[in-house]
Amino acid sequence: MLLTCPNCETVFRIDSERITDGGQPVRCSVCAHVWQAEPPMLVPEADPGEMRSAVGAVLTPLIILVVVLGIAIGAVTQRATITAYVPGLIGVFDRAGLAVQPQTDKLQIVDLKADYAGDTLRLRGKLMNRSAVYAHAPSLEVTILSASGDPLGSHVIQPDDSVIRPAMASEFFTQLVLGEGLEPTVTVTMRADPVAGSSF
Ligand SMILES: [Zn+2]
Repeated sequence: MLLTCPNCETVFRIDSERITDGGQPVRCSVCAHVWQAEPPMLVPEADPGEMRSAVGAVLTPLIILVVVLGIAIGAVTQRATITAYVPGLIGVFDRAGLAVQPQTDKLQIVDLKADYAGDTLRLRGKLMNRSAVYAHAPSLEVTILSASGDPLGSHVIQPDDSVIRPAMASEFFTQLVLGEGLEPTVTVTMRADPVAGSSF
């Protein structure tokens, strides 16, 4: 290493091994000036802060990717609920090949009532949302069975509302013209037809 005397500016070449880590007094052989010589600059070690930011530069996109994936997976598995709140997203899922189906296990048909007016059967009831979140109302299939259990026909109806709020019910109503003298059994079941997206 080279040492320069701060007094006379004479430059000396000395073995850097001779200067201890903490520095060491040296004496100029030209002007007899004594000063504290510092050891040569060591190669600076990586700053831990820089290490962290380098790790962060790799990890941050990974974490963002995991979070985005998590949201995407959650959005796919929860799409029935999400689209019950935001029906505009039904079309987005549809275009991705992910049909939105009503979660019929969260719903219950209640207050089913039937009465006759002549040969017309009037059927009304409610579709109750038993969950704590909005739910799509499924199509309902009304099936008529004869007293002997033979199917006489069925048709599909829609409840009044397309989305049912938590702990609320949507009413449905239908009329069926039946032949004279029949004593049919009418059943109403929920269908798993995909929910139709809005067409605007
Ligand atoms: Zn000197």
